[in-house]
Amino acid sequence: MQSYEQSLQQTRKFLLEHDDYLVVSHVQPDGDAVSSTLAVGWLLSCLGKKYTMVNEGPIPSRMEYLWQSGEIINLTAEALTRQYSHVICVDCADFQRVGRTQQHFASDALILNIDHHPTNNGYGAVQLIKPDAAATAEILFDLLKTFGVQWDIDIATAIYTGLLTDTGGFRYNNTSAKVMAAVSELLALGVNGPELAETLLEEMTLAQVKVLNRALTTLQMSPEGDIAWVHVTPQDMLECGAANEDLEGIVNYPRNIRGVEVGILFKVIDEQAVKASLRSAGKVDVAALAQVFGGGGHTRAAGARINGTLEEAVAQVLEEVKRHL
Ligand code: 5GP
Ligand code: MN
Repeated sequence: MQSYEQSLQQTRKFLLEHDDYLVVSHVQPDGDAVSSTLAVGWLLSCLGKKYTMVNEGPIPSRMEYLWQSGEIINLTAEALTRQYSHVICVDCADFQRVGRTQQHFASDALILNIDHHPTNNGYGAVQLIKPDAAATAEILFDLLKTFGVQWDIDIATAIYTGLLTDTGGFRYNNTSAKVMAAVSELLALGVNGPELAETLLEEMTLAQVKVLNRALTTLQMSPEGDIAWVHVTPQDMLECGAANEDLEGIVNYPRNIRGVEVGILFKVIDEQAVKASLRSAGKVDVAALAQVFGGGGHTRAAGARINGTLEEAVAQVLEEVKRHL
């Protein structure tokens, strides 16, 4: 097992040695996924390398302030015609998380896997995985330091965004002294912390409030009061004018109820599939729980896609949660 230092050096070598990279992150990208994609792009541009950034879907509109966010190709709206021999995956715990972007990986592509999920299964030719990093952006902070590049406000804002969102506004238990030391440096570079907190964590779209309202009317609790869950259907999404990004934060409501150990949001995808978002108050390792269904994540925040109807998914997940409690 190589050390983190060795992985950083190996990653540095990989980036310097090759050219023409495809930079991808996970489906339904969050703040860390988008920021990490852009941070890698920023570094490659400093190194004079060619690169293309892509995601299976759109970038959440509240992240449009990020440097070059408009350059990330959205495969649902734009075509990417060729394949790439060098691929950098950021914030993706397993290969399937890249979604349809994998159609653009050459069959013998060399993959660099940069991630912070404890459930990362170690895919790729080169791995830079730090399970105790608060965000993939934290790993990129370290990686960027190994290059003698001049930091600017764009990269500082991107890294700060990943740290801010994956720590829930510097509140979760991944908010380490190291995170705060990095934050201190980023603020000194001119990052506008309060404005980013407002844009990313406080501000809500009307659709988001409407879909939250719907979801809360579906709240159910276990008889013991230790599991709480809500659901959202495609019809709710349609009637509220909500996009996927508008579901951000809903799962915290069931999780935050006093006495609840596991909070769940079930998002019905279609008649045969449901996405479950799981949050733990600390007792249950929801990453391990999500892995039972082929998903993954972190001990306190994880997700999985479950085959079946809403009723079937709820029954299966609740049974598994009870086993873990
Ligand atoms: P969310 O519930 O907000 O979608 O995701 C919470 C955490 O679980 C994130 O770290 C996310 O990357 C991870 N996660 C969500 N869904 C999946 C999934 O289907 N597979 C894996 N491996 N991780 C997931
Ligand atoms: Mn992350």
